[in-house]
Amino acid sequence: MSYEISQKMRYDKAQTVLTYNGCQSNSNSFAVVIEKADFTKNVLCPFCLTYNLLMRFEKRGQCYKCPICKNDMMLRTLIKEITIPEFARWVFDYRLSGFWTKVYPSAKLWFIKLKELGFSYEFWENYNRLKGESKANNKFNEDYE
Ligand SMILES: [Zn+2]
Repeated sequence: MSYEISQKMRYDKAQTVLTYNGCQSNSNSFAVVIEKADFTKNVLCPFCLTYNLLMRFEKRGQCYKCPICKNDMMLRTLIKEITIPEFARWVFDYRLSGFWTKVYPSAKLWFIKLKELGFSYEFWENYNRLKGESKANNKFNEDYE
């Protein structure tokens, strides 16, 4: 077992859990990750920017499949409430793992949808700032243009 993994396991074991009685340390030998989801809630799919009830997503192992664009994503991606700058950061971090090839039905229509949702200005302001910073650091050259 690698050093990183053993350190990660030690960290996970030390994680505390939030309960009704306040913070309690995790007595299990595994990490406790509680994803509380309200399946009657509308969630926004980041790949097609469509709102759908969480119950309409098909559960496949650890992932949930969007009924519209058929992309798989983690539950926390869907239920976590994030601000537009956080969303821009998420897309920016995901771009090298193929975010722009997953958007549905096309990048052009994704841009239009973003605009319709009223997210466009703030999203691009943040996204382009991150892009500018990374270009300045000269770390990434691949990007969606
Ligand atoms: Zn989708």
